Amino acid sequence: MTDIAENTGVTVLIAATLRTFTDRIPEFTVEAGSVSEVIDILSSEYPDIRKVLLDDDGNIRDFINIYINDRSIRELKGLRSALKSGDTLLLLPAMAGGSGENPKIRPKERIRNESIIPDARYKEIKLDDKQISRYNNHLQLKDISVKGQKRIMASKVLIAGLGALGGVVAQNLAAAGVGTIGIADFDKVDLNNLQTQIIHSTRDVGRPKAASVKDAIKRMNPLINTVVHQERLSADNISEIISGYDIVVDATDNYVSRYLINDACVLSGKPVVYGAMYQFEGLVSVFDGVKGPCFRCQFPSPPPEGLVPTCSSSGTETPLPGTVGSLMANEVIKLITGKGEVLVGKILAIDIWNLSFRKSDVIKDAGCAVCGKRPTVTSVEEIDYEDFCGLKRLDEEEPVESLDPQEFARRLAGGAPLTIIDVREPHERSILRFPDAIYIPIGQLARRQNELDPEVDTVFICKEGKRSAFAIRTLREAGYTGPCYNLKGGLDASAEIVLPNEGAWL
Ligand SMILES: [Zn+2]
Repeated sequence: MTDIAENTGVTVLIAATLRTFTDRIPEFTVEAGSVSEVIDILSSEYPDIRKVLLDDDGNIRDFINIYINDRSIRELKGLRSALKSGDTLLLLPAMAGGSGENPKIRPKERIRNESIIPDARYKEIKLDDKQISRYNNHLQLKDISVKGQKRIMASKVLIAGLGALGGVVAQNLAAAGVGTIGIADFDKVDLNNLQTQIIHSTRDVGRPKAASVKDAIKRMNPLINTVVHQERLSADNISEIISGYDIVVDATDNYVSRYLINDACVLSGKPVVYGAMYQFEGLVSVFDGVKGPCFRCQFPSPPPEGLVPTCSSSGTETPLPGTVGSLMANEVIKLITGKGEVLVGKILAIDIWNLSFRKSDVIKDAGCAVCGKRPTVTSVEEIDYEDFCGLKRLDEEEPVESLDPQEFARRLAGGAPLTIIDVREPHERSILRFPDAIYIPIGQLARRQNELDPEVDTVFICKEGKRSAFAIRTLREAGYTGPCYNLKGGLDASAEIVLPNEGAWL
């Protein structure tokens, strides 16, 4: 195995979210005849990659997609799929995932785009002189024109999540003239939001995001009816909230919300415009369980909590949400006007750093739990989404001893021997460095466990306390028995408490 691709062997491409398990190396050349051989060879060097890719029974995990030359191995022979020299193997988990093209079962005809706004609704709309002036750009476009603009004005769109993507979508839809914009978020604007959530200003810090976005919409276009839902979307309220809208924009940042929104929208026959980001990469799709595949068809189950870093724990470049959010708003306009080609049955994977835009098929899964032939999800109230996303399961089955930030500060001040293991990525450590910590990436923990002293208490730290908990479980499975503690809430929760006591923070 070498680190740089050569002309012989199989090229193995590792998606950004998985590189924490391969010492950040994005690409390998491997001499192997099958997918399972590749995994064997990779895990001989990086033992933890196997745990991420395969479950305890040795099957590929649901949130992992593996492609040979852009064909999913699920459509081939799975792990036994043969490889030959010159083939490319892609390993893609949910956040950075995409779907391969499969010529055998690709739908013959494009899914026809029809306006989701009934004629009777748009015909009631009258344009006055000011509106003709305000909306003149669309009126000049043949594919939108008066009819399309009236449909936009008659439409009702819910934006779930008002972070970076939701803000960009709100700005675009307000300027376009979407008649009713629902905004759902219960969070407040933080100073560290401003670099990517550019709908908010410095003076909005501390205000509810929904109030800030409502004001921004009003400044941009006072004709818009903005409806605020300042609450967390849940199985109890989602069906009622979405019932008032034609389209739901999923701009949330967690799997619980994404599966909840998907299921509620499939069950009520509404399309979801989906967008996600990770560092410099983005994904955009339209999930519509009636006309095509849904989110569950692409990702039947989420990655376990802490296994794959989220965008909030890994950073986002300022212009990325502008790109991804504009593409999401563009899908909304196409669904409303019924013109253009929508991303139903397609997923667009964007990498703005290397400037690649890759559009792949998403295959409708006949066995899908919510939109398949025999659905098992028939009402969102029946599902415990937190449990489904592993948030409860991990706490119940694999408890990890933890220290809260106050206790951690006391231990540091007490002076008793304490080993601190920082499992963050190198670029995260350059922002906030802990002076006496040992840096061990999660992917190297199992083989470097001899660097730990089993007689000494060891505290594991990361940004939010999730990857560090995963690190402890990984180490336990590798046979380490020394005392391990997770820093609860990670450095995000500890910086203010530990910082004043610990002058050596850089
Ligand atoms: Zn489905």
